[in-house]
Amino acid sequence: RAAHNEEAAAKAASDTGAPTIFDKIIAKEIPSDIVYEDENVLAFRDINPQAPVHVLVIPKLRDGLTTLGKAEPRHIEVLGQLLHASKIVAEKEGIVDGFRVVINNGAEGCQSVYHLHLHVLGGRQMKWPPG
Ligand code: AMP
Repeated sequence: RAAHNEEAAAKAASDTGAPTIFDKIIAKEIPSDIVYEDENVLAFRDINPQAPVHVLVIPKLRDGLTTLGKAEPRHIEVLGQLLHASKIVAEKEGIVDGFRVVINNGAEGCQSVYHLHLHVLGGRQMKWPPG
């Protein structure tokens, strides 16, 4: 099942600081379906969507932000830009009845790609609490 694959991927991944697939997406060496882009932020559709709208919002410069847990005061500006870009994505995608922004952090948080990313999910009724 997809959920189990996600968990397996998260368990297999670790925060080594090695380049990730998102570097290739930023460099446009591999294709992605870009929803929003500015100087600092890139937003593209998740390849394995968990909702009708599922977009990943990432900083173009990782600058040590493999995880949210590595955030330092110098990252405060880009963290704000990522949240603001998430709102722009939700607006562009027309998920006006509500949406969710998620950051998976580390192995127990089910993080599988060690380049900070916000998941913007919407287009269906969300459940609470998440699994
Ligand atoms: P996380 O599990 O929170 O680290 O999220 C990583 C996300 O990246 C997962 O939802 C994957 O489906 C997604 N993903 C992995 N590779 C790609 C890719 N090439 N293009 C778009 N999304 C991807």
